[in-house]
Amino acid sequence: MSRITFHYQPYDLQLEHTFTVAAYSRTTTPVMLVELHYENLVGYGEAAMPPYLGESQKTASDFFRKVHLGQFSDPFRMDEILHYVDSIAPANYAAKAAIDIALHDLVGKLLEQPWYKVWGYCKEKTPVTSFTIGIDKPDIVREKTLKAKPYKMLKVKVGLDNDKEIISTIREITNTPICVDANQGWKDKQQALDMAHWLKEKGVVFIEQPLPKEQIDDIAWLTQHSPLPIIADEAIQRLEDVAATKGVYSGINVKLMKATGMREAHKMLQLAKSLGMKTMLGCNL
Ligand code: MG
Repeated sequence: MSRITFHYQPYDLQLEHTFTVAAYSRTTTPVMLVELHYENLVGYGEAAMPPYLGESQKTASDFFRKVHLGQFSDPFRMDEILHYVDSIAPANYAAKAAIDIALHDLVGKLLEQPWYKVWGYCKEKTPVTSFTIGIDKPDIVREKTLKAKPYKMLKVKVGLDNDKEIISTIREITNTPICVDANQGWKDKQQALDMAHWLKEKGVVFIEQPLPKEQIDDIAWLTQHSPLPIIADEAIQRLEDVAATKGVYSGINVKLMKATGMREAHKMLQLAKSLGMKTMLGCNL
């Protein structure tokens, strides 16, 4: 009988530009590359672990050493396999996601179908992908904006002291729709609302995590008054967190690395939609 075997190795993604958001800067993204072998097929997955989220190649290796997939002979029993992986230790979201993604890749290869088809979606209706511009001086913002030309949406990091300078610099070059992500960098709800009005005039379409996630009442007030949708990112991790964002935010940012992979992320998207909330998919570079 065939068994699933599990392999992994660390890898560092080197960034072309130093990436700066409201709370930190970095020049690499450490990842773990995962392979699940079954019969003559290989499913590939990856854990992306920006240091501020608390996972590392070391924590992922420690977690992976506890994972024994050889006990499973049927990759299609995905719920059982992923429930086992999730139960080994708390947290380790990205490490779990790497296994989940590799398992989906493997099962997709066994089915000879991509998952958008398995889940009944239409490729032509795929939402647009944005290009992210970090917090930077105008010359770098200009350079990145030019590089982003093929993209139909820009995601712009704000939340330090030069928000208007960044947005105005981009608007000198292009009218491409922008979404902004303050990464909890704004602190005052009235200032956040004033900024939302200014940003709307500049062709911004939504705002991600404007205020610290603990300021729930302020965020609910902002969402009620803001001319732009307010999206939760840092405030939400997994499926169990979705319901509580209803009435506080307009929508949620789902990330595979937060949600422990595709299986739970898909459930989060469906739940949020059923609650009448907006959804987006984010990544960790
Ligand atoms: Mg974000």
